[in-house]
Amino acid sequence: MIIKKLTIGAFASNNYLVICEDTKDAVLIDAGGDYKSTIQQIKDSKAGLKYIFYTHAHLDHISGDRELKKNLQLKTFLHKDDQFLVEMFKEQLKMFAMPELDEPIIDENINHGQKLDVGNLKFEVIHTPGHSPGSVCYLVEDALFSGDTLFADSVGRTDLPGGSYEQLEDSILNRLFTLDENIKVYPGHGSSTSIGYEKQNNPFFGLNSRI
Ligand SMILES: [Zn+2]
Ligand SMILES: [Zn+2]
Repeated sequence: MIIKKLTIGAFASNNYLVICEDTKDAVLIDAGGDYKSTIQQIKDSKAGLKYIFYTHAHLDHISGDRELKKNLQLKTFLHKDDQFLVEMFKEQLKMFAMPELDEPIIDENINHGQKLDVGNLKFEVIHTPGHSPGSVCYLVEDALFSGDTLFADSVGRTDLPGGSYEQLEDSILNRLFTLDENIKVYPGHGSSTSIGYEKQNNPFFGLNSRI
């Protein structure tokens, strides 16, 4: 498995190109920002990009959808509980004073526990509501793509439409901190971390914050 981190757009969101080394099939985890400059980078990687797995539907994670689809044949996946945010896409752009863009098109709604294959890589969908109702994390081998649910030394905000601090706490404690401590965490913003480190040190829900 090859993981390439692409940090792009006005919100510096991390999108990850994940490539199966055996088959060269690839998935993009989130597509925020302007993709005009990064499409070449994706083509240069010689990977066969087939899918976009969205962690949630805030504009800084989905705004590159249409631009990418103009250039590549892609199938997109999102949890159904964030579909309302896709419908609110134009409002989201207005809220952040961003230029007009066409609304993303979601091909398939996914559920908790669903398995998604990319070449020989097996991704598992972990539904982690809280930052948004349909936020999910994707687990593949020893890597977790955590979107805006869990960050290095932080967690996602819960003051946006459909957000809930109680749900976020429940998701992180019962669905993420129960995973193997060696799993590396690749968040939607900022640097990478691990389940073990955050379980101990996360200032919101880590063990050290509870003493
Ligand atoms: Zn978000
Ligand atoms: Zn974000």
